[in-house]
Amino acid sequence: MFEEIIEFIKSLYPNQNPVPLHAPVFLGKEKEYLLDCIDSTYVSYVGKYVNRFEKMTAEYTDAKYAIAVVNGTVALQIALQLAGVKYGEEVITQPLTFVATPNAISHCGAKPVFIDVDLDTLGMSPEKLEDWLKKNTKYNQSTKRTINQSTNHSVSAIVPMHTFGFPCRIDGIVEVANKYNIPVIEDAAESLGSFYKGKHTGNFGLAGILSYNGNKTITTGGGGMIITDDEQLAVKAKHITTTAKIPHPYEFVHDEVAYNYRMPNINAAIGVSQMENIDLIINNKRETALLYKEFFSNRDIEFIFENQYSKANYWLNSILLKDYSLRNKFLIFANSNNVQCRPAWVLMTKLKMFSDCIKGDIFNALQLEERLINLPSSLRVPNH
Ligand SMILES: *Cc1c(COP(=O)(O)O)cnc(C)c1O
Repeated sequence: MFEEIIEFIKSLYPNQNPVPLHAPVFLGKEKEYLLDCIDSTYVSYVGKYVNRFEKMTAEYTDAKYAIAVVNGTVALQIALQLAGVKYGEEVITQPLTFVATPNAISHCGAKPVFIDVDLDTLGMSPEKLEDWLKKNTKYNQSTKRTINQSTNHSVSAIVPMHTFGFPCRIDGIVEVANKYNIPVIEDAAESLGSFYKGKHTGNFGLAGILSYNGNKTITTGGGGMIITDDEQLAVKAKHITTTAKIPHPYEFVHDEVAYNYRMPNINAAIGVSQMENIDLIINNKRETALLYKEFFSNRDIEFIFENQYSKANYWLNSILLKDYSLRNKFLIFANSNNVQCRPAWVLMTKLKMFSDCIKGDIFNALQLEERLINLPSSLRVPNH
């Protein structure tokens, strides 16, 4: 059976050896825009591409504001800080995520709390979130804050993540969060082009973040974006990611300690070109997912598919094998046959820097970790 799967994947990517898990593809005007940056000398802070990239992203995601930064990790850190997360507080996220999520929480001086995911969406479970909040927190009426009773710290944000591009039950999560007056910041780093109930992921809470790392759905080399409908948050995000400089033709006056997180013009130039092809990119990835779905449905292997409320970008196509030993056998077979497949991340709760963090039951995350495999998912384009 393994041979058959590998042959099928190779037939999807006939010109690639090894077949990468997810490689960037430059189909548009990337070179032209990069040359334009170099010819004009606007490669860094100043230049037209950053604004253009932000505008295109806001339009595509239907967010009112988009703020480009140097990567997704700092986008999340800044969004959390602007949501009011402070040193010593607690931020709820999920154990099945990339390390950037709890890292960004830690960069704010906060502690992650890990709540389980749903088996079908791979994202945070609204029921388990509510159950944990009910059992472990009390609401302080005068400060209007939710306090973890075992630590006496505020639970100051919730960060669900749309795993591999599959939207989680984000409306349910926001509903629970609103009951407890906790802001939601969506980690939509993997879900550009994924929609839930017709709305782009990252747009359901106070703010969301995107990533343009080299292996993501689109890339800027490295980069990130904060998206939000909140004007005050947007203005503040732009200000503190650009050294808090007060606009002036030649004076340098800054009004707070801030960051140099602005996305350089050359990165944004690549982003503009990638966004010009976003519909083609998402459609291409969704077609590949359908081919995988059909292949696996005839072979009694569970292929993760979007649910009725979701339109997923299929950033990384994923299957669930029967158990851990089969998963490992497949990983060895695939990789030794030049097809790059990989397991889910080791759960955050098992990493030494987060092993002492508070967690709810993580039964589903443990199951997924043991059985899940990501399959090659790059764009399929002739001559690539
Ligand atoms: C990629 C990613 C990020 C951001 O990563 P950067 O490499 O800093 O752009 C954040 N969260 C998740 C879940 C990711 O996959």
